[in-house]
Formats: sequence, structure tokens, C-alpha cells
Amino acid sequence: MTAPVADGLLFSVDFEDFSHDLKRDLGLWDTGPLRGDALWRAWEEIAGFLARHDDAKITFFCTGIVAERLPDLIARIAADGHEVACHYHMHDEMDRQTAAEVECNLRRAIDLLSAASGAPVRGFRAPKFRIEKRDPAQYQVLERLFDYDSSYFTDRPDGLAAFRARMGLTRLALLPIYSGRPHPRLPAMKLGGSYFKLFPGAISDRLIAGAKAAGMQPHIYLHPYEFCKTGDFLLSQAELAPLGLKNRLYWTLRQHQWSTVGNGSVARKLDAILTRLRLLGRLCDQPGMPETG
Ligand SMILES: [Zn+2]
Repeated sequence: MTAPVADGLLFSVDFEDFSHDLKRDLGLWDTGPLRGDALWRAWEEIAGFLARHDDAKITFFCTGIVAERLPDLIARIAADGHEVACHYHMHDEMDRQTAAEVECNLRRAIDLLSAASGAPVRGFRAPKFRIEKRDPAQYQVLERLFDYDSSYFTDRPDGLAAFRARMGLTRLALLPIYSGRPHPRLPAMKLGGSYFKLFPGAISDRLIAGAKAAGMQPHIYLHPYEFCKTGDFLLSQAELAPLGLKNRLYWTLRQHQWSTVGNGSVARKLDAILTRLRLLGRLCDQPGMPETG
């Protein structure tokens, strides 16, 4: 049920419009236009990176709203041979929603993503990894709708069997993300996202070594905005104005942490890792997947 560890690296992208989703998180809107040009540019950055690495194929966890507004972009990702998987409909914290809401949002996203990509949607990752893990109801929905999930993070894979039993999982494969302490004085970090971008490559190297030592497949996840060097997904001062001065200043600084600081380093750090580890391809093609249908 859990894929065995191979000698290589899994790499996936959570393909979302950061500016749209942050405005929703901050209560600035329910939804609005996506930054389509920025998402296309980010895709081209990522595609260029993959082309330099033997034209590798990977998995893109895409939000349903991107498929709804930019179906041609999702079609392009699929046409280039990548897997289009699901990253929920909006970028919402699922653990704040009921299982019925979750199922409704997932079905909507799956319909949009499969229509745009022309392929079945087999995998899922929860926005911010926030799926309810204390009660099995949300994982039971995943078990019905998907072949695999990549929302679980740990440094103790020996706990996976107990987690599966608590969630009542019999079929769904789990592709967990390693989250461990790269140094006794540092907190636990996931292998990807802002940790990968903001910290030196040596930290990611330690996390990769930690994953291997724990018997977990090293798996790096990143986002479109981390590949953009021009702040394409930054909210403007006018967009942040309704928050008031104090919050506007806070979020002005905070969003730079995601959208600009260290963004030029991402491809370089990945390049260095890929001199030692090969990319293992799309998640749906990994060993340990259940039979479809
Ligand atoms: Zn996300």
C-alpha cells in the first residue's frame, strides 16, 4: 500500500494561484480573476527546468479553480505528458470543513480537472496538508475518489500502518512527505515549499538523508510562485488596503517570504540535487498503486 523506497527523487508541484488564494484566505474576496499570465509564465519556467532534466515527467496537483478558469493550461500540462492530480477546488483548509463539503468540493474539482486534462484524476494533496486526520470521515472520502494521497507528512513511517487502520484505509496508497529535524537545534521541516527555498541546500540534503534513513522516499514539493523571480503573485498595496495599515504592512512583508525571497535559488538547488539523484517520474506510475477501476 505504501510504495517501496527507490534510489531517486520524487518531485511534484502544487499548481495554484497564490495571489487568488491569499486574497481568499485574508477575506478580501470569495473568488475573482486568476493571474493567468503569471501561471502560464510559471508553467513555462517549470517546463524549461524539466526539459533540462531529460524531459522528466512529474505530477502537478492542481486546484479545480485553475482548471475552471484556465482549462487550456491544464490541457497543456497533460499534453506534455505530466500527471494532473487534484489539489482541492479552492485552496481551502479542509480540516475546517465537514466531510460532506469536502466531498462536494472534491467531486467538482475532479470533474473540472479530468475534463481539462482528458485523463482520470488519480491522486490528491490537501492544500497546506490540512486534511482532518483525527477523524476518518475525510480520508474515507479520499478512499472512494482517489488511488493515492500525498497529504500525510511524518518522519516515522512505522506509524503509517496504524494511521491507515485509524482512517479505515484498505485501498488508497499513501505517498507521505518527509518532515523531520535537519539538526537537533532546528524545528521539523518538510522537504519542499518555503523550507526548500529559504534554507541553504545543505538543509535539504540533510532532509533527503533523513528521509532515506527513515526508510521514506525523498519527495520534494514546490509551487509555481517559487519558480517565479519577478514577484508575479504579489498582492498590490491597493489589494491589501482593506486590511488596515498594521495588517497591510504585516502581509506586505509576509508575502515576500513566499513570492520573492530566495526564488532565484530554487532551480539551482534542484539542479544540484539532481546531479546525485534521478527523478522517478509521475506519482501515479510509482510502484504500490492500487489497480484502477
Ligand atoms: Zn497548495
